[in-house]
Amino acid sequence: MRASFDAPDVEERVELSFQLTVTDNDEAQSSDTISIFVEPTNPPPTNSLPSVNAGEDQTVVEGSEVRLEGEATDSDGSIVSYSWIQLAGESISITDSDKIKASFDAPEVTYEHELILELTVTDNNGLDNSDTIAVFVIPTPADIPTKLMWPIECEPGIDCTVGYADVDGDGVAFNCENPSYQGHEGIDINLNDGLNTTKWEQMDKGVNVLAAQSGVVLWAFDDETAFDKCTENTDIAECNAPTEQNGPNVSSGYRVCTDLGSYCAGGAGLCYWCFDGKNVVVIKHEGEVFATRYDHLKSGSVLVEKGDTVFRGQKIAEVGSAGRSTGPHLHFEVWKTDYYSLGEPFAGKCGPNFENSLWNLNKFPWFVK
Ligand SMILES: [Zn+2]
Repeated sequence: MRASFDAPDVEERVELSFQLTVTDNDEAQSSDTISIFVEPTNPPPTNSLPSVNAGEDQTVVEGSEVRLEGEATDSDGSIVSYSWIQLAGESISITDSDKIKASFDAPEVTYEHELILELTVTDNNGLDNSDTIAVFVIPTPADIPTKLMWPIECEPGIDCTVGYADVDGDGVAFNCENPSYQGHEGIDINLNDGLNTTKWEQMDKGVNVLAAQSGVVLWAFDDETAFDKCTENTDIAECNAPTEQNGPNVSSGYRVCTDLGSYCAGGAGLCYWCFDGKNVVVIKHEGEVFATRYDHLKSGSVLVEKGDTVFRGQKIAEVGSAGRSTGPHLHFEVWKTDYYSLGEPFAGKCGPNFENSLWNLNKFPWFVK
């Protein structure tokens, strides 16, 4: 009549069911059942983690006071401590690092610099949780005109994408990722199909191309009648290879060529240059960058002529897909020190530009106007 067992270890209350069956001398049977509930010895606390938000990433100017405003809640208790610490970047001193609102002075920088901070909060049961925030420090606006600005009115990740350059031809972009293709001489800023619009509709609506820096127009080509929605399969003469020999002032197929002038390296001798962008503008600058080039422009959209003075940020044309082009995009090229001496505006560890970014904001140049 008696039996026993050892209760198992359990993490939560568990029900065990047993049945006892008895049989008499006439083989008649009867049964009954019993439930045994096994409880854990140390029930785990039902406390849940506090939630924490260190705030939105920020872009700030060097030397300015940066405010950190976190948010934290605990659904089953209260927050008892806060701690801001720095995880990366130039060393800073945080004021009120033990409060939900803290601050620090942005360090002096020569180009964009990233700081990473972490907020950790602890609740009344000793559980903690953390969140990080990135703060991008940029040079003072007074330095901005010396650098290039983003040459198109679109924001990568929103209404365009970027294919990076490979001006040293090693098959690796400045950030160690793939360039748009090996040996790509500039940056391709591609319109893309968004939620409510296709890239072609976006082009038709008009996406402005802006002078990345003040200067004087070296060359401007605009064939107002040229087909400007070329793709790799378009069977139209101006989207395809030239049928005539290159020469000064000869334009054929997707190729346009300049006049003959003192355009060789160093400005000596007599040279001409040819571009495959059909509708093209090249602007010569004073200062850090020799010239910038803009290709594949919409036919009839070019607003400048050779010899015009243009200002940083001035609209010079609209995005198209003229010339040797697979879709609506701006090919933007930097000539660093001389005629056709290609430069990489982005600084990055895979080079060839290792630290002196030609943008005011190296990582996100489209954020500085
Ligand atoms: Zn390109």
